[in-house]
Amino acid sequence: MIVVGGRCAGAATAMLLARGGLRVLVVESAKRGTDTLSTHALMRGGVLQLHRWGLLDAVVASGTPAICATQFSYGDDIETVDIRTGDGISALRAPRRTVLDALLLDAARAAGAEILSPARVTRLLKSGGTLCGIEGITRGSGVSFRATATLTVGADGRGSMVASAVGAGFHRRGTASGAIIYGYFPGLARDHYHWGYRPGVAAGVVPTGDGLACVWAGTASARFDRSQRLETAFRLLLAEAAPEVARSIAAALPAGRLRGFPGAPGFIRSCGGPGWALVGDAAYYKDPITAHGITDALRDAELLARAVLDAPNGGRAQLDAILDYQRTRDRLSVPLFDITERIASYQWDLAELRDLLKALSQAMRPEVATLLGLDRPDDQSLLAG
Ligand SMILES: Cc1cc2nc3c(=O)[nH]c(=O)nc-3n(C[C@H](O)[C@H](O)[C@H](O)COP(=O)(O)OP(=O)(O)OC[C@H]3O[C@@H](n4cnc5c(N)ncnc54)[C@H](O)[C@@H]3O)c2cc1C
Repeated sequence: MIVVGGRCAGAATAMLLARGGLRVLVVESAKRGTDTLSTHALMRGGVLQLHRWGLLDAVVASGTPAICATQFSYGDDIETVDIRTGDGISALRAPRRTVLDALLLDAARAAGAEILSPARVTRLLKSGGTLCGIEGITRGSGVSFRATATLTVGADGRGSMVASAVGAGFHRRGTASGAIIYGYFPGLARDHYHWGYRPGVAAGVVPTGDGLACVWAGTASARFDRSQRLETAFRLLLAEAAPEVARSIAAALPAGRLRGFPGAPGFIRSCGGPGWALVGDAAYYKDPITAHGITDALRDAELLARAVLDAPNGGRAQLDAILDYQRTRDRLSVPLFDITERIASYQWDLAELRDLLKALSQAMRPEVATLLGLDRPDDQSLLAG
């Protein structure tokens, strides 16, 4: 099996395929442990996956603090919801991508996957209509390589080269998109997520490692002014969306630079065909406002890996298993996608937003139930750490 892209979706998929006994090659163009453009709040399903795979202790050991509650502020009205304990989860966590992606890649390597990083896939090989391998080049040394496989998994993100090369069709295309600016600040509360909303704007605080919290502020992409200095735009948006947070970091400088994301509309794509499969953002991308992309990537990595392990020899049986993965992915993702579209439009009032967030919370339940349902004793032996 070849996996193109070795961050949360690709590294997790590779780890599970290798734990299942398959030969796996991962090609990732970024260096291990480097950051990417993403905040990193995990929802329950994501933390559950790390726990089920035996990796949560390493996240805790990295110094990523326990998130025991989520505080929502709707204008001046504050509501706090405690994180339910159970299923092996005592708190949520929000590890930096430098921590999470490296941990998953190391776990894939430990399970026997071969990792080529930093190296880039430059071409996909086809035989008839079937994808059968890749060509690429290592970064730095510039060595060309070629590899063949019964399945090539595109875990190469929103702009997936694999999805484009195979012409993966769109099941759904969104229209809404939000812009986000974020940075890391010391001195904020360490034990809860904070999501703040006022008409047309939103902000959040995501405590993470090194004593820092990721602070983000967002609005509709159409309102994002690219000519403005990022720091000015960030402080203004934050003051509008969550004035209390803005005040508490008014005198603080960010640790490192601020990052800005202008936004992009979401989509849900086909995730399998002859010789190929897609996972993570390559298959299904939605606006970051609902902070669910990593959680979904960790969920779908396992749904895909199980499908492949059910029919490891390729052919029709494997394709059918991958289409089953797609059906489960759609069942779990479409409600979340549609709610995200509404929230990312920023065309709500606070009463409607509360209802949308309640619906979002409901939409996460089947995901967690499905993941817990995978833990039948006969399944455990293959994928547990
Ligand atoms: C601003 C922002 C904030 C976000 N905040 C959150 C959040 O708080 N919580 C959350 O759950 N989600 C969040 N997300 C979404 C989350 O970042 C994505 O869902 C997640 O990164 C998807 O993981 P992935 O592994 O599918 O893709 P990616 O993380 O995009 O990784 C794909 C990898 O593929 C590699 N690659 C691409 N092409 C090639 C090639 N040809 N050869 C080799 N390698 C290749 C790239 O180098 C990249 O490292 C946010 C996204 C953005 C943009």
